Amino acid sequence: MKRHWLSAIYDANPQASYKFATVYVLSSLISSSTKNIEQNKPVILDQKDIAKEYLQLFWDTYLIHDIEHFIPTRIRVGDESNKRKQSEIMQLVNNLWDDYSSHTKSNDKIRFEKFLREINKISPLQIKLEKTLKKVYSNMRKMPLFYMKMEGILYDFDSSGDLVINKEAANAVILTYPLIKYTSMIELTKYLERVNQSKNIKPGIMSILFYISSNLKTRRPGIPLVCRELIEDFHSSEFEIICSSCHEPIYSNSALDHTIPWIKIRSHDIWNLHPTHSSCNGSKNDNPPHDEQIRIVQSRNERMLEYFLAQNYEVDEQKKYVNILQSSIESNELWNKYVRMC
Ligand SMILES: [Zn+2]
Repeated sequence: MKRHWLSAIYDANPQASYKFATVYVLSSLISSSTKNIEQNKPVILDQKDIAKEYLQLFWDTYLIHDIEHFIPTRIRVGDESNKRKQSEIMQLVNNLWDDYSSHTKSNDKIRFEKFLREINKISPLQIKLEKTLKKVYSNMRKMPLFYMKMEGILYDFDSSGDLVINKEAANAVILTYPLIKYTSMIELTKYLERVNQSKNIKPGIMSILFYISSNLKTRRPGIPLVCRELIEDFHSSEFEIICSSCHEPIYSNSALDHTIPWIKIRSHDIWNLHPTHSSCNGSKNDNPPHDEQIRIVQSRNERMLEYFLAQNYEVDEQKKYVNILQSSIESNELWNKYVRMC
């Protein structure tokens, strides 16, 4: 299945910039909507989210940097449909921009996120945006999605028109994150480089690359306070704390260890966090957990859930993490699939 995503990129007509953009948009949405946790059922992408991501891509890259020449200088027979679709979507972006600048009397080109914030209370522009999103989506439904469906990437549209990505296709994105996003974007920039005669193209391409890298969110965020508090709350209720790494008691200098390394799981869920000696934690790096370690953490999780259920937490955030803890115990699959990935 991974081959399908990448072949959609590599086998694409070199003029098919629209298709690169589609792979980029869909893979971005899959990786953000699933938080990179392997899926056991199809992933449904909301049509409005798809249209918004699409519009943002065109707005932040083509519009901001005045990249007008995204049509090949030498168009081969049969490439007309691609040319038309790109022109259509760019026209929609330009129309939206024109409305905004005439309404605000400003010609400063702003990023799409800022545009969304600024029109938050301007209802004529809100309505215009809604209409544009509908047009973008209906435009998208015409060709590239159909093409990709033929290649086995997409499952189908559901009855409301949202997009249903089959679980294999979603997991292919999750497992190769961020390769697919980078590859599609690099192909898109290569395409621009090939066809564009504008002097703005170099900064434009650089900005596209910065745009993706800032959206990849690969930097590891800190463990949320609520998680730390929950874990501390439980462990302080027990007679002693055993280090999950060396199995010796911890008296001082402890750290919270991601049993399945963070890089594999990209979350701070409490079922995966266990105290270790600081020194044990420092030497673990991103190594996978050993069997005994998994056993210690799983048995701790069972005691911890029992303890939490007796506490009757009121705060939503606390309840959320307790629920995830519960599902990690009820389904061994959650552990198995991550251990497989290590
Ligand atoms: Zn230790």
